[in-house]
Amino acid sequence: MAFPHLSNLSISVEKQGPAKVTKASFPLRYGKFSEIRTSEYEFLFNLNGEIKFIRGLDANWPHPAEQLKRTDGNDWVYYSVGDDSSENGIISWLGEYYLPCLPYPSNPIWEINYFSNPVIMNAFAAWPQLYANLYGAKNDKLHPKAKDLIGNILNNDDKVLHERSQNIHSIIGGRVSVLPPDTRHVDYEIIPLNIADGCLFHCKFCCVKSAQRFQARSRNDIIKQIRQLKLVYGRNLENYNALFLGNHDALEAGDELIFIAASKAYKDFGFGARTKNTFLFLFGSADSFLKSKNQLFEKLDHLPFYTYINIGLESIDQSTLELIGKPLSESKVREAFKKMLDINAIYKNIEVTTNFIIGEGLSAEHYRSLKGLLRDAPVTTRGKGAIYRSPLKDSPKKRELLPLINEIKDQSKIPVYIYLIQRL
Ligand code: SF4
Repeated sequence: MAFPHLSNLSISVEKQGPAKVTKASFPLRYGKFSEIRTSEYEFLFNLNGEIKFIRGLDANWPHPAEQLKRTDGNDWVYYSVGDDSSENGIISWLGEYYLPCLPYPSNPIWEINYFSNPVIMNAFAAWPQLYANLYGAKNDKLHPKAKDLIGNILNNDDKVLHERSQNIHSIIGGRVSVLPPDTRHVDYEIIPLNIADGCLFHCKFCCVKSAQRFQARSRNDIIKQIRQLKLVYGRNLENYNALFLGNHDALEAGDELIFIAASKAYKDFGFGARTKNTFLFLFGSADSFLKSKNQLFEKLDHLPFYTYINIGLESIDQSTLELIGKPLSESKVREAFKKMLDINAIYKNIEVTTNFIIGEGLSAEHYRSLKGLLRDAPVTTRGKGAIYRSPLKDSPKKRELLPLINEIKDQSKIPVYIYLIQRL
């Protein structure tokens, strides 16, 4: 039997990759997915039939490890290996083998405008062409499983994909303006659940803050979000093993709310049924972190997650803190930094990381004091914890900052990476 519309397609209805995300210099596939290949492209779909990845297969494609990825926020992000795919390249700066090139303004050090590359744009054009071919084939005589897959894909056209992302945003109360840098460990594949809105500080320099004052959500609101998220993620829920408790300072919401949200989400999203490698991500502020008692960390440590808490400290120099409008004192930053080291040493399942800004125009003292802090940190191993250098969004000549980041990396006892602001 000839299928006129599908003659050049190879269809894998369901493939199983490893459940755990590991770091590799080539595109690894995780969980269950469907794959359709033409001679030129590989298209991957999640378990709902939503397009997820497009990768070029022929010699014109920029690099075999590069691909386009559609996020749950319906952004198409281009994963580039940068101009050096060796161990000295992107992996040494970002901790990952790829550089996400974003279709919206952010704070990248490397500006790669993939929209101007006709080869990559052709891959975008190949997706509606594939959709049209599948549409033409829907009445062909096919294996029932292939027919089901094609039906699912056709049910998820661009309009539906857009509406689904809007739906996620409306359930949680708005778009996630920034993901914690640690979510790179799961390739940014998290389910967002907001347990609070706003933040304590409203720092002048911040480009991701919301206008709201800090306000924790009610228990009922959290339970409602979980119920609705479960419906919208549908069958593809089984491909997730990570939860982000939002938004900017979930730690301030307190142990009870964190515990309820994490435990309920773990159970209702079925995380434990699939893998032991489950992750919880949240942001905290210096204030919420310093006032968090041992009881909170004990509880977190006993949750069935490995928990990453990311704290924005920004500078250890008082005049820089004042310049950027961060209402913290140098002594408080020092205290929070010390507490990070302590928590990382004591608790097996908790890892605290911090952010410090970088940018043109910041004083020499900002860099000198930070180097001193990281050089003299009383840590014995380069294991837990990470320092993220967050380029100021409006700082010009970001790439010129790389030698400076290198100097700090070389002196630091804790791994140092660059923080790229990504939304969902
Ligand atoms: S840096 Fe953090 S605490 Fe400051 S305004 Fe932005 S989100 Fe809020």
